Amino acid sequence: MDEKRNIIFSRETEEDQVYSLSLRPASLTDFIGQKELVDNLKVSIQAAKQRSEPIEHVLLSGPPGLGKTSLANIVAYEMGAHITVTSGPAIDRAGDLIGILTNLEKGDVLFIDEIHRLSKVVEEFLYPAMENFKIDFIVDKGPYAKTINFNLKPFTLIGATTRSGLLTSPLRERFGIFHHLDFYKIEELSHIVTKSAQKLNVPIDDAGALEIARRARGTPRIANRLLRRVRDFAQVKTSKGVIETSVVQEAMKTLGIDAQGLDETDRKMMRVIFEHYKGGPVGIETLAATLNEEIDTIEDVIEPYLLKMGFLKRTPRGRELTEQSLKALSINSSLPKTKSELF
Ligand code: ADP
Repeated sequence: MDEKRNIIFSRETEEDQVYSLSLRPASLTDFIGQKELVDNLKVSIQAAKQRSEPIEHVLLSGPPGLGKTSLANIVAYEMGAHITVTSGPAIDRAGDLIGILTNLEKGDVLFIDEIHRLSKVVEEFLYPAMENFKIDFIVDKGPYAKTINFNLKPFTLIGATTRSGLLTSPLRERFGIFHHLDFYKIEELSHIVTKSAQKLNVPIDDAGALEIARRARGTPRIANRLLRRVRDFAQVKTSKGVIETSVVQEAMKTLGIDAQGLDETDRKMMRVIFEHYKGGPVGIETLAATLNEEIDTIEDVIEPYLLKMGFLKRTPRGRELTEQSLKALSINSSLPKTKSELF
């Protein structure tokens, strides 16, 4: 992935991993935004602590980069528990899961990212583990087959998913707590940028933080990534190295990110729908093939923000542009302004 693409793609890169240790909020008080979720989680944590029990299993859903992994770490921290981190695709065989589960101590948190990508066999092992902290597995075959039961120590499973709709209902029903994370407000992102700048020791003014926040697609991970890019600009191009509006604007221009956070990938997708499919509707498979993108990338990364901004509509017959996106396209190119002018 080249640098411009990296900015907008909210999946974690190696650079993010390096910075996430220092920028990740450590406790619920550090966690900015998602107020309702945070308030509810506080109650769940306090109640579990009063009962000296682990907190119920938690399912967190929402687009990448909104804080699911951070929240899982925070829950473990607030509960005074250890956390084991893994992901759906990383658990190949039921044996891998058994190894992980039997190593958990009482009250530990097991975080499974991309839980919708667990294999069916592994998922079925998880049911009794979640329900009664037991696992049964069969050794040998035919007449010699024996079931061995393992008692596990009570633990909390925190599952994260970008697509709760893909979770099977038996799995979904085994979570006691379910929260959806939504895109952040600009003021919240601006607060996050200011805090991250402090942690990175970069001077920034309020207007500069707001300018970055506006272009961060409602996503803290992208806000932090933009901050790091703008920091380089401020360092090289200004005498004091302070991040202010003009530096942000110049950096964004170079990165091809417009005032609303749309980048070349978004514009390309909208342009393709417009030019090849007369504004839509167009099926996701067809769109993915034309754009040479994975369907998952379109559904998880590109379109959630376009849908949220009202630039794209999902209809039973596929994706369709809106009047608003046609207008945005016309600003970025010489396309006509309204749909009626088009056809
Ligand atoms: P997800 O697991 O949903 O993909 P992460 O928890 O990895 O997202 O968050 C990505 C980065 O964004 C974190 O490393 C952290 O720096 C930042 N971040 C996310 N949510 C918040 C928040 N509410 N307040 C401050 N920073 C946040």
